[in-house]
Amino acid sequence: MAFESDSPLDRLWQEYGRVFQEWDDLTLARWLAQTLGELEGKSWRLSHPLVGAYRLAAQLAHDRQIWFKRLATPPAAYAESPCCRAPFLPLLTRDVRESGLICQHCNETLVTFDEIPGDLRDQLDRWAGQYGPVHDVAHWDDRQRKRGGNYDAAYENAAQQVEQLLARAGRELAPRLLEFYAAAVWEDQDECLEVRPEDVAI
Ligand SMILES: [Zn+2]
Repeated sequence: MAFESDSPLDRLWQEYGRVFQEWDDLTLARWLAQTLGELEGKSWRLSHPLVGAYRLAAQLAHDRQIWFKRLATPPAAYAESPCCRAPFLPLLTRDVRESGLICQHCNETLVTFDEIPGDLRDQLDRWAGQYGPVHDVAHWDDRQRKRGGNYDAAYENAAQQVEQLLARAGRELAPRLLEFYAAAVWEDQDECLEVRPEDVAI
């Protein structure tokens, strides 16, 4: 979700986010701190409504520099992010090798790939290495499509493999982030292969 762009879906999320704009800074800060308490100790689907609401509020809080103002104290389990000083809440995506783990408050890299602790990094490296070529099927050019034979079948096959890879992220990889971080979010969809959250069973 890129909140700034102007697609119909982004406009819908902007509409959802208006409720938080009516809140004053103190109300927003308290809601974020309390919700972090509810998120603590679990890995969450990006599509979870609570996470969606949190991300809307967190982006507004980032714009208003809520965490710099120290209006509310987040739960002690959350470290401070180096990128924007908000509590540490990483998002795992298929681009982890290039982008690392993403901050849910400012959308910058929160943990570079090299900073992820070794054993987990190796596991993520293998997973992303399997994911990449499968995802690329969605972006094949004409020459690759011809060489691959029946493109519809190749696309469908790739989508099914991605469902399994995302399920593994939710089942095995994201929970491991909890060894290091108070809570974590994982991307449970692949828009290029039209894999939706409801297609990913964990
Ligand atoms: Zn940040």
